[in-house]
Parts: sequence; C-alpha cells; structure tokens
Amino acid sequence: MKNSLVILGLALIVAFPVSAGTPLTGKVIALDAGHGGGETGAVGVCNGAEVIEADVNLAVRKELKVLIAVGEGTAHEVAQLSSRQDRVADAEAAGSDVLISIHHNGSTNTSADYAQSFVTQKNDKIFAGYIHPKIVNALELPDKGIKNDGYGMTVYGSLPGVLTESYFVTNTDAACDFLNYQNGATNTRVQKEAQAMYDGLVAYFSANTGGGRGRNK
Ligand SMILES: [Zn+2]
Repeated sequence: MKNSLVILGLALIVAFPVSAGTPLTGKVIALDAGHGGGETGAVGVCNGAEVIEADVNLAVRKELKVLIAVGEGTAHEVAQLSSRQDRVADAEAAGSDVLISIHHNGSTNTSADYAQSFVTQKNDKIFAGYIHPKIVNALELPDKGIKNDGYGMTVYGSLPGVLTESYFVTNTDAACDFLNYQNGATNTRVQKEAQAMYDGLVAYFSANTGGGRGRNK
C-alpha cells in the first residue's frame, strides 16, 4: 500500500510538474531590427551628435532578447537582408511563432513624438493588440494607434507580426535619451520599450495557449 502511494505520488509529479514553464516556454519570437546593412533609417541629433535609427532598433532588440531568454523563450534575430520578403522568409524558416519588426519614426519636426504600429493581416492585428498598448503606456506618448497599412514586414508570410514605430529618433529629447542609454543609463526609452514588448508577448501567449490560434488569418 505504501509503495503504491509512492508510485501514485511520482505519477502525479510527472503529470503535473512543479515548474510548468512560462507563457514563452517553447516559443520562438522573431526579432527584426529595421534597416542595417548600410541603411541608417531615420537620423536624430542631440547636441550635434547623430543618433541612427538602425542603432536604436538593434539596441531594443538586444534588450528584448535578454528578457525573452529569462522568460524561457527563444529570440530569433532576423538577418538584416535588403529584401523585406527575405527577412520574413528568414523568420519563418526559424520556426517563429510571431514576428516583431522594430523601427523608430522620423520627422523634420524635431519636437514630433508619438507611438504607432503597423499591421496587415487579421492575425497581425490580434497580436499588435497585445504589444502596442504596452508600448504606449510604458513610453507615455501620444497614441496614433495600430494602422492597417500594406507595407513593411507584416505583408509577407502568414505568421502574426507587428511593425512598431514606438517613438521618433528625430525628437531631440529622444535622441539625447538614446545617448544616455549608450552611456549606461538604465531607465531610458530603450529599456522601457523592450520591457513593454516583453510584457505584451507574455500577455499574448497567455491568451493564445492553444498555439494554433495565433496563426489564423
Ligand atoms: Zn525604420
């Protein structure tokens, strides 16, 4: 009798492991850092020093990748190919569940600053609904919403994706904030944005535990 109780106990431990993982366990998140490969994207200026959008995109990806690893997910760094279609193919070939294409906006108006995201397909819109509001809240910027626009990384392939333009690198305060980040500051927009995206990913995968649902068009 005693032995059978032990066996029952072991069976329960196997069936219901204490460490059940996190919502990101086993998930592959494709992170595309916009531009690169000689393309700068938007360029901001702080006290005469240039801030390149491609560098900001890479910085956010680097911070987000660390958070995803801690959360037991896998971040796939999308190759910075010149063709957007090829970038999506790279993400899909890696078996990615979702795609975030990280961009930052630009304007000739150095005081312009707001958050906006872009989607194409229905599954993009669902995914963006978890990511975009977190960015708006974290950066406390005016919300220009999730725009349905047939360009960028969300056009190709079928995996849920969002192209984020979380803030303007051409905004003077934002450009100076990025220089602070590069100089070791720990509470800059880069960290806030990465944390917001991570929180959005956790919320998305918590709500879409079936796995296949997010792939519906
Ligand atoms: Zn861009």
